Amino acid sequence: MRVINFNPGPAGLPTAPLERARDELLDFQGTGMSIIEHSHRGKAYEAVHNEAISLLKELLSVPDTHEILFIQGGASQQFAQVPMNFLTKDTSADYLVTGGWSEKAVEEARYYGTPRIAANTVNADKRFTRIPTQAELQLDPKAAYVHMTSNNTLFGTQWHTFPDVGQVPLVADMSSDILWKPIDVSRFALIYAGAQKNIGPSGIVLVLVHKDFLAKGRKDIPKVFRYATYAENNSLYNTPPTFSIYLCRNVLAWIKDVGGVKQIEAWNREKGELLYAAIDRNAGFYRAPVEKASRSYMNVVFRLRDEKLEEAFVAEGAKAGMVGMKGHRITGGIRVSLYNAVTVDHVKTLVSFMDDFAKRNG
Ligand code: PMP
Repeated sequence: MRVINFNPGPAGLPTAPLERARDELLDFQGTGMSIIEHSHRGKAYEAVHNEAISLLKELLSVPDTHEILFIQGGASQQFAQVPMNFLTKDTSADYLVTGGWSEKAVEEARYYGTPRIAANTVNADKRFTRIPTQAELQLDPKAAYVHMTSNNTLFGTQWHTFPDVGQVPLVADMSSDILWKPIDVSRFALIYAGAQKNIGPSGIVLVLVHKDFLAKGRKDIPKVFRYATYAENNSLYNTPPTFSIYLCRNVLAWIKDVGGVKQIEAWNREKGELLYAAIDRNAGFYRAPVEKASRSYMNVVFRLRDEKLEEAFVAEGAKAGMVGMKGHRITGGIRVSLYNAVTVDHVKTLVSFMDDFAKRNG
């Protein structure tokens, strides 16, 4: 029996890609071994690797101007790798701070150059409940890049219109909302996304990077940290996490099978609207701290009257087969993550539980 999984990441994966992995585990396509046991230079693995890349190109309409890279590690590593490649002691980059992850990205940039805070929506309680407006951005036209976090996993806010940063290269951490809907990749110099929410298992990061931006990367840093090394070697410079990439391939193939990212977006919008409507119609009982225009479709956060009631909500939810709703240790409260593997029916189950819980405890 599989539970309804609202985990924030690593998150639930769709069942079909996991079943495919199970069916192929001991004997991958008649080769007498699992994909894990194949050489990363062999035909069997290389076909999987290239299929994952071409599926990404198709699903996200990645233009030919951009390279598609797989890099071992996580998004936290990208907080460092971006400034390592594109900053020097004499240059600065603009950071749009909208949550805990952007704050961490700023700190890593300090090792290589000067991060400028071009916007910061932190409030008096040290929380983030909104995305800045365009007018609030204090951008420096000489910045090496502008860094943003498209979806704030902890605080449940999301950029619904990407900022206009003029000619400055735009870099986005899309770890928690990549593939939630179609995006215009051409607007970004670099996008990175840890896989463990919408793409697959942890251990791998997807990077989409403009070739011109890539060419500006520093050459006085170790080869293994240069984006150019990954681009020149089809992300096979060293041994990649082959099983992670294989599972990403399975998830991407599933997205294509169900109708592509447009269909995924339709489901995500329906899911988000169902859940926010349940919060809003029980507004005296569930409190959503995020400003409406900044609400995330991926991570929905809300509070109940007190912590005891929040604990009861999580415990009763778990008894009803729904897990992963406890808020982050920094933010407290409830957080429901609605990544691509969560279905509309899962959210309908949650919403009727929420109405009933409010009735019984209101
Ligand atoms: N950025 C965002 C938006 C995230 O949600 C997370 C983790 N959930 C990270 C960065 C850090 O990812 P990792 O733990 O893979 O380094």
